[in-house]
Amino acid sequence: MDQHHIYDMVVIGGGINGVGIAADAAGRGLSVLLCEKDDLASHTSSASSKLIHGGLRYLEHKEFRLVREALAEREVLMAKAPHLIRAMRFIMPHRPHLRPAWLIRTGLFFYDHLGKREKLAGSNLVDFDPKTSLFKPEIVKGFEYSDCAVDDARLVVANAIQAHENGASIQTRTRCITAQAEQNVWTVQLQNTQGTFAVRAKVLVNAAGPWVTEFIQQDLKMQAAYSIRLIQGSHIIVPKIYAGDKAFILQNDDQRIVFAIPYLDEYTLIGTTDQRYLGNPDQVDITESEIDYLLQIMNAHFQQQLTRQDIISTYSGVRPLCDDESDNPSAMTRDYTLVLTQQQHAPLLSVYGGKLTTYRKLAESAMHQLKPFFSKLKPDWTAKALLPGAENFFNAEHLVKELEQYLPDVPKSLVERWVHSYGSRVWRMLGSCEHVSALGQCFGHDLYQQEVDYLVANEWAVSSEDILKRRSKLYLKFDQDQIARLDEYLLALHKRRAQEIAA
Ligand SMILES: Cc1cc2nc3c(=O)[nH]c(=O)nc-3n(C[C@H](O)[C@H](O)[C@H](O)COP(=O)(O)OP(=O)(O)OC[C@H]3O[C@@H](n4cnc5c(N)ncnc54)[C@H](O)[C@@H]3O)c2cc1C
Repeated sequence: MDQHHIYDMVVIGGGINGVGIAADAAGRGLSVLLCEKDDLASHTSSASSKLIHGGLRYLEHKEFRLVREALAEREVLMAKAPHLIRAMRFIMPHRPHLRPAWLIRTGLFFYDHLGKREKLAGSNLVDFDPKTSLFKPEIVKGFEYSDCAVDDARLVVANAIQAHENGASIQTRTRCITAQAEQNVWTVQLQNTQGTFAVRAKVLVNAAGPWVTEFIQQDLKMQAAYSIRLIQGSHIIVPKIYAGDKAFILQNDDQRIVFAIPYLDEYTLIGTTDQRYLGNPDQVDITESEIDYLLQIMNAHFQQQLTRQDIISTYSGVRPLCDDESDNPSAMTRDYTLVLTQQQHAPLLSVYGGKLTTYRKLAESAMHQLKPFFSKLKPDWTAKALLPGAENFFNAEHLVKELEQYLPDVPKSLVERWVHSYGSRVWRMLGSCEHVSALGQCFGHDLYQQEVDYLVANEWAVSSEDILKRRSKLYLKFDQDQIARLDEYLLALHKRRAQEIAA
Protein backbone atom coordinates (compact mmCIF):
# COMPACT_ATOMS: atom_id res chain seq x y z
CA MET A 1 0.00 0.00 0.00
CA ASP A 2 1.44 3.34 -1.06
CA GLN A 3 0.18 6.32 0.94
CA HIS A 4 1.88 8.89 -1.32
CA HIS A 5 0.51 7.53 -4.58
CA ILE A 6 -2.86 8.71 -5.96
CA TYR A 7 -4.66 5.48 -6.83
CA ASP A 8 -6.97 5.49 -9.82
CA MET A 9 -9.53 3.62 -7.75
CA VAL A 10 -10.17 2.66 -4.15
CA VAL A 11 -12.77 -0.08 -3.73
CA ILE A 12 -14.63 -0.48 -0.44
CA GLY A 13 -15.68 -4.10 0.15
CA GLY A 14 -14.13 -7.50 -0.51
CA GLY A 15 -17.30 -9.37 -1.43
CA ILE A 16 -17.86 -10.63 -4.97
CA ASN A 17 -18.80 -7.22 -6.36
CA GLY A 18 -15.81 -5.41 -4.86
CA VAL A 19 -13.24 -7.98 -5.98
CA GLY A 20 -14.92 -8.29 -9.39
CA ILE A 21 -14.61 -4.56 -9.99
CA ALA A 22 -11.05 -4.48 -8.62
CA ALA A 23 -10.00 -7.35 -10.93
CA ASP A 24 -11.62 -5.78 -14.00
CA ALA A 25 -10.16 -2.33 -13.29
CA ALA A 26 -6.64 -3.62 -12.52
CA GLY A 27 -6.68 -5.66 -15.73
CA ARG A 28 -7.46 -2.48 -17.68
CA GLY A 29 -4.33 -0.87 -16.34
CA LEU A 30 -5.76 1.14 -13.42
CA SER A 31 -3.95 1.32 -10.10
CA VAL A 32 -6.37 -0.09 -7.53
CA LEU A 33 -6.56 -0.51 -3.79
CA LEU A 34 -9.32 -2.64 -2.25
CA CYS A 35 -10.11 -2.56 1.45
CA GLU A 36 -12.23 -5.12 3.26
CA LYS A 37 -13.08 -4.59 6.92
CA ASP A 38 -13.05 -8.34 7.69
CA ASP A 39 -11.93 -11.30 5.58
CA LEU A 40 -12.63 -11.62 1.85
CA ALA A 41 -16.17 -13.01 1.32
CA SER A 42 -16.88 -12.94 5.02
CA HIS A 43 -20.45 -11.66 4.58
CA THR A 44 -23.13 -12.15 1.90
CA SER A 45 -20.72 -13.60 -0.65
CA SER A 46 -20.10 -16.75 1.38
CA ALA A 47 -23.69 -17.14 2.60
CA SER A 48 -25.33 -17.80 -0.75
CA SER A 49 -27.04 -20.91 -2.15
CA LYS A 50 -23.80 -21.33 -4.15
CA LEU A 51 -25.50 -21.33 -7.54
CA ILE A 52 -24.60 -19.68 -10.80
CA HIS A 53 -28.09 -19.62 -12.18
CA GLY A 54 -30.47 -17.78 -14.43
CA GLY A 55 -33.09 -17.76 -11.70
CA LEU A 56 -36.10 -19.66 -13.04
CA ARG A 57 -38.30 -18.04 -10.38
CA TYR A 58 -37.43 -14.49 -11.52
CA LEU A 59 -39.28 -15.14 -14.79
CA GLU A 60 -42.51 -15.05 -12.79
CA HIS A 61 -41.58 -11.53 -11.74
CA LYS A 62 -40.84 -10.58 -15.37
CA GLU A 63 -37.14 -9.95 -14.68
CA PHE A 64 -36.24 -10.78 -18.28
CA ARG A 65 -33.14 -8.54 -18.46
CA LEU A 66 -31.64 -10.10 -15.34
CA VAL A 67 -32.51 -13.67 -16.34
CA ARG A 68 -31.10 -13.26 -19.87
CA GLU A 69 -27.83 -11.83 -18.54
CA ALA A 70 -27.56 -14.43 -15.76
CA LEU A 71 -28.32 -17.35 -18.10
CA ALA A 72 -25.58 -16.27 -20.49
CA GLU A 73 -23.10 -15.77 -17.64
CA ARG A 74 -23.39 -19.43 -16.59
CA GLU A 75 -21.24 -20.68 -19.45
CA VAL A 76 -18.95 -17.64 -19.42
CA LEU A 77 -18.15 -18.20 -15.74
CA MET A 78 -17.89 -21.98 -16.10
CA ALA A 79 -15.20 -21.46 -18.73
CA LYS A 80 -13.41 -18.87 -16.56
CA ALA A 81 -13.28 -21.07 -13.45
CA PRO A 82 -14.05 -24.72 -14.30
CA HIS A 83 -12.45 -25.86 -11.04
CA LEU A 84 -14.90 -23.75 -8.98
CA ILE A 85 -18.07 -23.92 -11.09
CA ARG A 86 -19.74 -27.05 -12.39
CA ALA A 87 -22.90 -27.82 -14.31
CA MET A 88 -25.73 -29.28 -12.27
CA ARG A 89 -29.11 -30.74 -13.19
CA PHE A 90 -32.09 -29.52 -11.17
CA ILE A 91 -35.37 -31.38 -10.77
CA MET A 92 -38.59 -29.60 -9.89
CA PRO A 93 -41.11 -32.15 -8.55
CA HIS A 94 -44.52 -31.32 -9.98
CA ARG A 95 -47.23 -30.31 -7.50
CA PRO A 96 -50.20 -29.44 -9.74
CA HIS A 97 -52.04 -27.41 -7.08
CA LEU A 98 -49.12 -24.93 -6.99
CA ARG A 99 -48.10 -24.26 -10.60
CA PRO A 100 -49.77 -25.91 -13.61
CA ALA A 101 -47.53 -27.98 -15.90
CA TRP A 102 -48.09 -25.64 -18.86
CA LEU A 103 -46.75 -22.70 -16.84
CA ILE A 104 -43.58 -24.55 -15.81
CA ARG A 105 -43.05 -25.81 -19.37
CA THR A 106 -43.40 -22.24 -20.70
CA GLY A 107 -40.93 -20.98 -18.09
CA LEU A 108 -38.44 -23.70 -19.00
CA PHE A 109 -38.83 -22.95 -22.70
CA PHE A 110 -37.75 -19.36 -22.00
CA TYR A 111 -35.01 -20.63 -19.68
CA ASP A 112 -33.63 -22.85 -22.43
CA HIS A 113 -33.72 -20.12 -25.08
CA LEU A 114 -33.31 -16.69 -23.46
CA GLY A 115 -29.54 -16.82 -22.93
CA LYS A 116 -26.72 -18.31 -24.97
CA ARG A 117 -26.31 -22.02 -24.14
CA GLU A 118 -23.79 -24.35 -25.75
CA LYS A 119 -22.65 -26.74 -23.03
CA LEU A 120 -25.54 -26.87 -20.61
CA ALA A 121 -28.25 -29.39 -21.52
CA GLY A 122 -31.82 -28.20 -22.04
CA SER A 123 -34.87 -29.11 -20.00
CA ASN A 124 -36.98 -32.28 -20.08
CA LEU A 125 -39.79 -34.07 -18.26
CA VAL A 126 -39.04 -36.84 -15.74
CA ASP A 127 -41.28 -39.56 -14.33
CA PHE A 128 -40.55 -40.87 -10.84
CA ASP A 129 -40.63 -44.65 -10.50
CA PRO A 130 -42.88 -45.33 -7.47
CA LYS A 131 -40.60 -48.22 -6.42
CA THR A 132 -37.45 -46.11 -6.18
CA SER A 133 -38.76 -42.56 -5.86
CA LEU A 134 -37.41 -40.33 -3.09
CA PHE A 135 -40.71 -38.47 -3.04
CA LYS A 136 -44.12 -38.98 -1.49
CA PRO A 137 -46.43 -41.18 -3.62
CA GLU A 138 -48.54 -38.24 -4.87
CA ILE A 139 -45.47 -36.73 -6.59
CA VAL A 140 -45.21 -38.71 -9.80
CA LYS A 141 -43.42 -36.46 -12.28
CA GLY A 142 -41.14 -33.46 -12.48
CA PHE A 143 -39.19 -31.13 -14.74
CA GLU A 144 -35.43 -31.22 -15.17
CA TYR A 145 -33.15 -28.37 -16.32
CA SER A 146 -29.55 -27.12 -16.01
CA ASP A 147 -27.82 -24.49 -13.89
CA CYS A 148 -24.44 -24.44 -12.13
CA ALA A 149 -23.01 -24.83 -8.62
CA VAL A 150 -20.12 -22.68 -7.38
CA ASP A 151 -17.77 -22.36 -4.45
CA ASP A 152 -18.83 -18.80 -3.67
CA ALA A 153 -16.06 -17.82 -1.24
CA ARG A 154 -13.34 -19.25 -3.47
CA LEU A 155 -14.75 -17.38 -6.46
CA VAL A 156 -14.21 -14.19 -4.44
CA VAL A 157 -10.65 -15.20 -3.53
CA ALA A 158 -9.87 -16.10 -7.17
CA ASN A 159 -10.95 -12.62 -8.27
CA ALA A 160 -8.88 -11.01 -5.49
CA ILE A 161 -5.83 -12.98 -6.67
CA GLN A 162 -6.47 -11.88 -10.25
CA ALA A 163 -6.76 -8.25 -9.14
CA HIS A 164 -3.55 -8.58 -7.13
CA GLU A 165 -1.66 -10.19 -10.02
CA ASN A 166 -2.67 -7.20 -12.14
CA GLY A 167 -1.14 -4.87 -9.57
CA ALA A 168 -4.03 -4.19 -7.14
CA SER A 169 -3.32 -3.82 -3.47
CA ILE A 170 -5.73 -6.00 -1.45
CA GLN A 171 -6.06 -4.91 2.17
CA THR A 172 -8.16 -7.18 4.34
CA ARG A 173 -9.10 -6.42 7.94
CA THR A 174 -8.95 -2.79 6.87
CA ARG A 175 -12.04 -0.66 7.34
CA CYS A 176 -12.72 2.55 5.48
CA ILE A 177 -13.85 4.90 8.22
CA THR A 178 -14.43 8.02 6.16
CA ALA A 179 -13.56 9.65 2.84
CA GLN A 180 -13.60 13.22 1.68
CA ALA A 181 -13.10 14.73 -1.75
CA GLU A 182 -11.12 17.85 -2.48
CA GLN A 183 -10.04 19.13 -5.90
CA ASN A 184 -11.14 15.98 -7.77
CA VAL A 185 -9.31 13.62 -5.41
CA TRP A 186 -10.64 11.45 -2.59
CA THR A 187 -8.76 11.18 0.66
CA VAL A 188 -9.79 7.87 2.13
CA GLN A 189 -9.19 7.11 5.81
CA LEU A 190 -8.48 3.47 6.50
CA GLN A 191 -8.13 1.65 9.79
CA ASN A 192 -6.46 -1.68 10.52
CA THR A 193 -4.69 -3.29 13.48
CA GLN A 194 -1.66 -1.04 12.89
CA GLY A 195 -3.70 2.16 13.21
CA THR A 196 -5.36 4.76 10.98
CA PHE A 197 -3.88 6.10 7.76
CA ALA A 198 -4.97 7.83 4.56
CA VAL A 199 -4.74 6.92 0.88
CA ARG A 200 -5.80 9.07 -2.07
CA ALA A 201 -7.82 8.07 -5.12
CA LYS A 202 -9.38 9.54 -8.26
CA VAL A 203 -12.46 7.30 -8.01
CA LEU A 204 -14.15 5.72 -5.02
CA VAL A 205 -16.19 2.54 -5.49
CA ASN A 206 -18.67 1.67 -2.76
CA ALA A 207 -19.19 -2.11 -2.94
CA ALA A 208 -20.01 -2.42 0.76
CA GLY A 209 -22.97 -4.77 0.11
CA PRO A 210 -25.36 -4.62 3.07
CA TRP A 211 -23.53 -1.50 4.29
CA VAL A 212 -23.82 0.41 0.98
CA THR A 213 -26.20 3.13 2.19
CA GLU A 214 -24.78 3.26 5.71
CA PHE A 215 -21.37 3.97 4.18
CA ILE A 216 -22.75 6.83 2.06
CA GLN A 217 -24.78 8.40 4.84
CA GLN A 218 -22.57 7.86 7.89
CA ASP A 219 -19.02 7.73 6.53
CA LEU A 220 -19.31 10.06 3.53
CA LYS A 221 -22.06 12.27 4.98
CA MET A 222 -23.86 12.24 1.62
CA GLN A 223 -27.41 11.39 0.54
CA ALA A 224 -27.93 7.86 -0.80
CA ALA A 225 -29.71 7.78 -4.19
CA TYR A 226 -31.54 4.54 -3.34
CA SER A 227 -32.52 2.76 -0.21
CA ILE A 228 -31.83 -0.90 0.19
CA ARG A 229 -33.81 -3.49 2.06
CA LEU A 230 -31.89 -6.18 3.91
CA ILE A 231 -33.45 -9.59 3.31
CA GLN A 232 -32.19 -12.44 5.42
CA GLY A 233 -31.68 -15.83 3.83
CA SER A 234 -30.68 -18.97 5.73
CA HIS A 235 -29.57 -22.50 4.91
CA ILE A 236 -29.35 -25.75 6.83
CA ILE A 237 -26.84 -28.53 6.14
CA VAL A 238 -27.80 -32.16 6.81
CA PRO A 239 -26.03 -35.47 6.04
CA LYS A 240 -26.68 -36.36 2.42
CA ILE A 241 -30.28 -37.54 2.07
CA TYR A 242 -29.95 -39.03 -1.39
CA ALA A 243 -27.26 -40.40 -3.70
CA GLY A 244 -26.40 -38.77 -7.01
CA ASP A 245 -25.39 -35.34 -8.15
CA LYS A 246 -28.74 -33.72 -9.00
CA ALA A 247 -30.32 -30.88 -7.07
CA PHE A 248 -34.01 -30.39 -6.34
CA ILE A 249 -36.02 -27.20 -6.55
CA LEU A 250 -39.02 -27.55 -4.28
CA GLN A 251 -42.16 -25.46 -4.53
CA ASN A 252 -43.93 -24.28 -1.42
CA ASP A 253 -47.52 -23.24 -0.81
CA ASP A 254 -46.43 -19.60 -0.34
CA GLN A 255 -45.20 -19.62 -4.01
CA ARG A 256 -41.54 -19.57 -2.88
CA ILE A 257 -39.03 -22.23 -3.82
CA VAL A 258 -36.32 -23.94 -1.78
CA PHE A 259 -33.29 -25.81 -3.11
CA ALA A 260 -31.92 -29.14 -1.86
CA ILE A 261 -28.42 -29.33 -3.29
CA PRO A 262 -25.77 -32.09 -3.08
CA TYR A 263 -22.94 -30.48 -1.12
CA LEU A 264 -19.32 -31.54 -0.65
CA ASP A 265 -20.05 -35.26 -1.33
CA GLU A 266 -21.34 -35.89 2.18
CA TYR A 267 -24.11 -33.38 2.74
CA THR A 268 -27.33 -31.86 1.42
CA LEU A 269 -27.55 -28.07 1.49
CA ILE A 270 -31.11 -26.81 1.98
CA GLY A 271 -32.20 -23.19 1.48
CA THR A 272 -33.10 -20.50 1.34
CA THR A 273 -35.55 -18.33 3.21
CA ASP A 274 -36.47 -14.68 2.54
CA GLN A 275 -37.32 -12.42 5.45
CA ARG A 276 -36.90 -8.76 6.26
CA TYR A 277 -33.83 -8.11 8.42
CA LEU A 278 -33.54 -5.04 10.60
CA GLY A 279 -30.51 -5.91 12.73
CA ASN A 280 -26.76 -5.55 12.28
CA PRO A 281 -25.64 -7.43 9.12
CA ASP A 282 -22.55 -8.57 11.06
CA GLN A 283 -24.71 -10.62 13.41
CA VAL A 284 -27.30 -12.34 11.23
CA ASP A 285 -28.24 -15.83 12.44
CA ILE A 286 -30.85 -18.43 11.49
CA THR A 287 -34.13 -18.21 13.44
CA GLU A 288 -36.20 -21.08 14.79
CA SER A 289 -39.01 -20.26 12.35
CA GLU A 290 -36.61 -20.42 9.37
CA ILE A 291 -35.50 -23.89 10.51
CA ASP A 292 -39.15 -24.99 10.80
CA TYR A 293 -39.90 -23.56 7.36
CA LEU A 294 -37.03 -25.39 5.63
CA LEU A 295 -37.77 -28.71 7.39
CA GLN A 296 -41.47 -28.43 6.56
CA ILE A 297 -40.80 -27.98 2.83
CA MET A 298 -38.38 -30.91 2.75
CA ASN A 299 -40.79 -33.13 4.67
CA ALA A 300 -43.69 -32.19 2.40
CA HIS A 301 -41.75 -33.62 -0.55
CA PHE A 302 -39.38 -36.37 0.54
CA GLN A 303 -40.26 -39.74 2.02
CA GLN A 304 -37.30 -39.41 4.37
CA GLN A 305 -38.41 -37.08 7.16
CA LEU A 306 -35.89 -34.66 8.66
CA THR A 307 -35.87 -33.33 12.20
CA ARG A 308 -33.76 -30.70 13.98
CA GLN A 309 -31.41 -33.49 15.12
CA ASP A 310 -30.34 -34.04 11.50
CA ILE A 311 -28.95 -30.52 11.15
CA ILE A 312 -25.14 -30.44 11.18
CA SER A 313 -24.73 -26.75 10.54
CA THR A 314 -26.56 -23.61 9.44
CA TYR A 315 -25.58 -20.28 7.94
CA SER A 316 -27.33 -17.01 7.18
CA GLY A 317 -26.65 -13.91 5.14
CA VAL A 318 -28.42 -10.74 4.14
CA ARG A 319 -29.19 -9.75 0.58
CA PRO A 320 -28.73 -6.04 0.06
CA LEU A 321 -31.66 -5.59 -2.35
CA CYS A 322 -32.73 -2.37 -4.06
CA ASP A 323 -35.90 -1.30 -2.29
CA ASP A 324 -38.58 -1.51 -4.99
CA GLU A 325 -41.30 -1.10 -2.34
CA SER A 326 -42.55 -4.62 -2.90
CA ASP A 327 -44.47 -6.11 0.04
CA ASN A 328 -43.09 -9.56 -0.62
CA PRO A 329 -39.34 -10.08 0.12
CA SER A 330 -39.08 -12.97 -2.34
CA ALA A 331 -40.56 -10.81 -5.14
CA MET A 332 -38.05 -7.96 -4.68
CA THR A 333 -35.74 -7.45 -7.62
CA ARG A 334 -32.40 -9.31 -7.58
CA ASP A 335 -31.09 -7.02 -10.31
CA TYR A 336 -28.30 -4.52 -9.63
CA THR A 337 -28.15 -0.77 -10.00
CA LEU A 338 -24.96 1.28 -10.26
CA VAL A 339 -25.19 4.89 -9.18
CA LEU A 340 -22.54 7.42 -10.15
CA THR A 341 -22.45 10.60 -8.05
CA GLN A 342 -19.74 13.14 -7.35
CA GLN A 343 -18.37 14.97 -4.33
CA GLN A 344 -16.25 18.04 -5.22
CA HIS A 345 -16.07 16.62 -8.80
CA ALA A 346 -14.57 13.35 -7.51
CA PRO A 347 -16.62 10.35 -8.70
CA LEU A 348 -18.27 7.88 -6.35
CA LEU A 349 -19.76 4.72 -7.84
CA SER A 350 -22.13 2.81 -5.54
CA VAL A 351 -23.29 -0.76 -6.11
CA TYR A 352 -26.85 -1.62 -5.08
CA GLY A 353 -28.07 -5.22 -5.17
CA GLY A 354 -26.69 -7.87 -7.52
CA LYS A 355 -26.04 -11.59 -7.55
CA LEU A 356 -22.92 -13.75 -7.57
CA THR A 357 -23.96 -14.87 -11.05
CA THR A 358 -23.88 -11.38 -12.53
CA TYR A 359 -20.76 -10.06 -10.74
CA ARG A 360 -18.64 -10.02 -13.92
CA LYS A 361 -21.23 -8.12 -15.95
CA LEU A 362 -21.75 -5.76 -13.02
CA ALA A 363 -18.00 -5.06 -12.91
CA GLU A 364 -17.96 -4.48 -16.67
CA SER A 365 -20.88 -2.03 -16.40
CA ALA A 366 -19.08 -0.26 -13.57
CA MET A 367 -16.04 0.21 -15.82
CA HIS A 368 -18.25 1.51 -18.66
CA GLN A 369 -19.68 4.13 -16.31
CA LEU A 370 -16.22 5.16 -15.13
CA LYS A 371 -14.68 5.28 -18.61
CA PRO A 372 -15.08 9.08 -18.99
CA PHE A 373 -12.69 9.56 -16.04
CA PHE A 374 -9.86 7.49 -17.54
CA SER A 375 -8.70 8.44 -21.02
CA LYS A 376 -6.48 5.37 -21.53
CA LEU A 377 -8.78 2.69 -20.20
CA LYS A 378 -8.23 -0.69 -21.91
CA PRO A 379 -11.24 -2.48 -23.50
CA ASP A 380 -13.46 -5.17 -21.94
CA TRP A 381 -11.38 -8.29 -21.22
CA THR A 382 -12.92 -10.44 -18.51
CA ALA A 383 -15.36 -12.50 -20.61
CA LYS A 384 -12.57 -14.63 -22.05
CA ALA A 385 -9.94 -14.34 -19.32
CA LEU A 386 -9.40 -17.36 -17.09
CA LEU A 387 -9.44 -16.95 -13.34
CA PRO A 388 -6.40 -18.14 -11.37
CA GLY A 389 -6.40 -21.95 -11.23
CA ALA A 390 -8.12 -22.32 -14.61
CA GLU A 391 -4.87 -21.97 -16.58
CA ASN A 392 -3.87 -25.28 -18.20
CA PHE A 393 -6.84 -26.93 -16.51
CA PHE A 394 -8.11 -29.63 -18.83
CA ASN A 395 -10.73 -31.00 -16.45
CA ALA A 396 -10.98 -32.04 -12.81
CA GLU A 397 -10.72 -35.80 -13.46
CA HIS A 398 -7.56 -35.32 -15.50
CA LEU A 399 -5.86 -33.25 -12.81
CA VAL A 400 -6.96 -35.65 -10.06
CA LYS A 401 -5.32 -38.53 -12.00
CA GLU A 402 -2.12 -36.55 -12.52
CA LEU A 403 -1.90 -35.72 -8.83
CA GLU A 404 -2.62 -39.30 -7.79
CA GLN A 405 0.35 -40.40 -9.85
CA TYR A 406 2.56 -37.63 -8.47
CA LEU A 407 1.56 -38.15 -4.82
CA PRO A 408 0.42 -41.80 -4.60
CA ASP A 409 0.28 -41.75 -0.80
CA VAL A 410 -2.29 -38.93 -0.65
CA PRO A 411 -5.98 -39.98 -0.30
CA LYS A 412 -8.19 -39.36 -3.32
CA SER A 413 -10.66 -37.28 -1.27
CA LEU A 414 -7.87 -34.83 -0.46
CA VAL A 415 -6.67 -34.65 -4.06
CA GLU A 416 -10.25 -33.92 -5.14
CA ARG A 417 -10.62 -31.18 -2.55
CA TRP A 418 -7.38 -29.57 -3.71
CA VAL A 419 -8.40 -29.74 -7.36
CA HIS A 420 -11.78 -28.10 -6.71
CA SER A 421 -10.16 -25.43 -4.54
CA TYR A 422 -7.00 -24.50 -6.42
CA GLY A 423 -7.42 -25.89 -9.93
CA SER A 424 -4.04 -25.93 -11.66
CA ARG A 425 -2.61 -23.72 -8.90
CA VAL A 426 -2.50 -26.88 -6.79
CA TRP A 427 1.08 -27.27 -8.11
CA ARG A 428 2.01 -23.91 -6.59
CA MET A 429 0.35 -24.88 -3.34
CA LEU A 430 2.36 -28.12 -3.25
CA GLY A 431 5.67 -26.40 -4.00
CA SER A 432 8.38 -29.04 -3.91
CA CYS A 433 6.39 -31.58 -1.84
CA GLU A 434 6.47 -35.01 -3.41
CA HIS A 435 5.33 -37.12 -0.46
CA VAL A 436 2.70 -36.77 2.19
CA SER A 437 5.48 -36.58 4.78
CA ALA A 438 6.73 -33.37 3.14
CA LEU A 439 3.36 -31.63 3.71
CA GLY A 440 4.25 -30.97 7.36
CA GLN A 441 2.02 -31.02 10.41
CA CYS A 442 -1.53 -32.32 9.92
CA PHE A 443 -4.15 -30.31 11.82
CA GLY A 444 -6.89 -32.89 11.15
CA HIS A 445 -9.03 -34.01 8.23
CA ASP A 446 -6.09 -33.84 5.83
CA LEU A 447 -5.35 -30.16 6.35
CA TYR A 448 -1.57 -29.93 6.28
CA GLN A 449 0.89 -27.19 7.17
CA GLN A 450 1.90 -26.81 3.50
CA GLU A 451 -1.64 -25.74 2.56
CA VAL A 452 -2.05 -23.50 5.61
CA ASP A 453 1.23 -21.70 4.84
CA TYR A 454 0.17 -21.26 1.20
CA LEU A 455 -3.19 -19.77 2.21
CA VAL A 456 -1.55 -17.33 4.58
CA ALA A 457 1.13 -16.32 2.05
CA ASN A 458 -1.04 -16.17 -1.08
CA GLU A 459 -4.71 -15.87 -0.20
CA TRP A 460 -4.90 -13.34 2.67
CA ALA A 461 -5.94 -16.01 5.19
CA VAL A 462 -5.25 -14.90 8.75
CA SER A 463 -7.43 -16.86 11.18
CA SER A 464 -8.55 -20.47 11.47
CA GLU A 465 -12.03 -19.28 10.49
CA ASP A 466 -10.68 -17.83 7.21
CA ILE A 467 -9.10 -21.20 6.42
CA LEU A 468 -11.82 -23.53 7.65
CA LYS A 469 -14.93 -21.58 6.60
CA ARG A 470 -14.00 -19.69 3.44
CA ARG A 471 -10.76 -21.04 1.87
CA SER A 472 -12.09 -24.55 2.57
CA LYS A 473 -15.25 -25.94 4.15
CA LEU A 474 -13.40 -28.04 6.70
CA TYR A 475 -15.24 -26.26 9.54
CA LEU A 476 -17.96 -28.86 9.04
CA LYS A 477 -15.52 -31.50 10.31
CA PHE A 478 -13.06 -29.82 12.67
CA ASP A 479 -13.57 -30.18 16.43
CA GLN A 480 -12.62 -27.57 19.05
CA ASP A 481 -9.24 -29.19 19.87
CA GLN A 482 -8.26 -29.26 16.20
CA ILE A 483 -9.27 -25.61 15.77
CA ALA A 484 -7.24 -24.69 18.87
CA ARG A 485 -4.17 -26.45 17.43
CA LEU A 486 -4.57 -24.58 14.13
CA ASP A 487 -5.01 -21.27 16.01
CA GLU A 488 -1.84 -21.91 17.97
CA TYR A 489 0.10 -22.65 14.79
CA LEU A 490 -1.26 -19.52 13.06
CA LEU A 491 -0.35 -17.33 16.02
CA ALA A 492 3.27 -18.55 15.88
CA LEU A 493 3.34 -18.20 12.08
CA HIS A 494 2.12 -14.58 12.16
CA LYS A 495 4.62 -13.75 14.91
CA ARG A 496 7.46 -15.22 12.82
CA ARG A 497 6.34 -13.33 9.72
CA ALA A 498 6.10 -10.04 11.66
CA GLN A 499 9.64 -10.55 12.99
CA GLU A 500 10.93 -11.27 9.47
CA ILE A 501 9.30 -8.07 8.15
CA ALA A 502 10.71 -6.02 11.06
CA ALA A 503 14.25 -7.44 10.59
C1 LIG B 1 -29.22 -16.46 1.33
C2 LIG B 1 -28.63 -15.95 0.04
C3 LIG B 1 -28.55 -16.81 -1.04
C4 LIG B 1 -28.02 -16.33 -2.24
N1 LIG B 1 -27.83 -17.22 -3.26
C5 LIG B 1 -27.29 -16.80 -4.42
C6 LIG B 1 -27.02 -17.73 -5.44
O1 LIG B 1 -27.19 -18.93 -5.28
N2 LIG B 1 -26.51 -17.25 -6.60
C7 LIG B 1 -26.25 -15.93 -6.79
O2 LIG B 1 -25.85 -15.57 -7.89
N3 LIG B 1 -26.44 -15.03 -5.80
C8 LIG B 1 -26.94 -15.44 -4.62
N4 LIG B 1 -27.12 -14.55 -3.59
C9 LIG B 1 -26.77 -13.15 -3.79
C10 LIG B 1 -25.27 -12.91 -3.60
O3 LIG B 1 -24.76 -13.70 -2.56
C11 LIG B 1 -25.03 -11.44 -3.31
O4 LIG B 1 -25.63 -10.65 -4.29
C12 LIG B 1 -23.56 -11.07 -3.30
O5 LIG B 1 -22.82 -11.96 -2.51
C13 LIG B 1 -23.37 -9.65 -2.79
O6 LIG B 1 -22.01 -9.36 -2.82
P1 LIG B 1 -21.46 -7.97 -2.34
O7 LIG B 1 -20.05 -7.91 -2.73
O8 LIG B 1 -22.35 -6.89 -2.84
O9 LIG B 1 -21.68 -7.96 -0.75
P2 LIG B 1 -20.81 -8.67 0.40
O10 LIG B 1 -20.39 -10.02 0.03
O11 LIG B 1 -21.56 -8.54 1.68
O12 LIG B 1 -19.51 -7.77 0.45
C14 LIG B 1 -19.50 -6.46 0.97
C15 LIG B 1 -18.25 -6.33 1.82
O13 LIG B 1 -18.03 -4.96 2.15
C16 LIG B 1 -17.36 -4.95 3.38
N5 LIG B 1 -17.48 -3.62 3.96
C17 LIG B 1 -18.61 -2.97 4.33
N6 LIG B 1 -18.34 -1.75 4.80
C18 LIG B 1 -16.99 -1.60 4.73
C19 LIG B 1 -16.09 -0.54 5.08
N7 LIG B 1 -16.53 0.61 5.60
N8 LIG B 1 -14.77 -0.74 4.88
C20 LIG B 1 -14.30 -1.91 4.35
N9 LIG B 1 -15.11 -2.93 4.03
C21 LIG B 1 -16.44 -2.78 4.20
C22 LIG B 1 -18.07 -6.03 4.19
O14 LIG B 1 -17.28 -6.51 5.27
C23 LIG B 1 -18.36 -7.09 3.13
O15 LIG B 1 -17.41 -8.14 3.15
C24 LIG B 1 -27.61 -14.99 -2.36
C25 LIG B 1 -27.69 -14.14 -1.26
C26 LIG B 1 -28.18 -14.62 -0.05
C27 LIG B 1 -28.21 -13.74 1.15
